[in-house]
Amino acid sequence: MRFPVLPVLVFCFASIATAQSTAHWDYLGKEGPLRWGKLDPAYAACSEGHEQSPIDIRNARLNKALQPIEFHYVTGSVIEENNGHTIVVNVKPGSYIVAEGVRYELIQFHFHHPAEETVKGKYSDMEVHLVHKSADGKLAVVAVRMAEDVAKPNAVLAALWPQIPRAKGDTVKVTDMVNPGGLLPADRGYWTYTGSLTTPPCTEGVRWFVFEEELALSRDQLRTFGTLYRMNARPIQEPHGRKIEANE
Ligand SMILES: [Zn+2]
Repeated sequence: MRFPVLPVLVFCFASIATAQSTAHWDYLGKEGPLRWGKLDPAYAACSEGHEQSPIDIRNARLNKALQPIEFHYVTGSVIEENNGHTIVVNVKPGSYIVAEGVRYELIQFHFHHPAEETVKGKYSDMEVHLVHKSADGKLAVVAVRMAEDVAKPNAVLAALWPQIPRAKGDTVKVTDMVNPGGLLPADRGYWTYTGSLTTPPCTEGVRWFVFEEELALSRDQLRTFGTLYRMNARPIQEPHGRKIEANE
């Protein structure tokens, strides 16, 4: 009689764990961004938080004490995943940044179309979010806005897009090795502020670093993602008096 009991218990725990944070959400309609906070108690921060992302970058204050971000990205194999909201590229451990004296490991990067952060109200064509985590669980996102430039395909996207997983739930091990450093612009000047995840559960306490310079991608590369995800950008959130600082 013992054996049947254990699987039932395991099943119950699994059900509880998934029920807490998997209310379905979307970018449009009844499950769209204006209703995220109501879809699940775990998503309350989406509507009640006062440090939400993305925001419109304007009136940034120069802070010369801010150091450049140190990037220690390495080339490695990656797994592309279509999670139904974006394409997530999961990287192996080994790449990290040092920002404001804290080391954060790169976990994954993913894309938004159009960009989420605006600059003085202007939207870029796309944005990549490089998501990092420190040893004590703090999150730092490096956001790079991308702009179409017919003559300038991006080398990382050239490796990723031919194998882009088209159906929700699909994952693909990419044939080519990838260095996420290929997603960084030449000029490393940035704006920084404290915000949140831009998808449910909209968790706050996330350090944002938004590069001032845009990265080029080709028209075909933009179209490849835009065909798959026409609109996966959360609307701009209230700043609620937050400071935006620039390092140069
Ligand atoms: Zn994102």
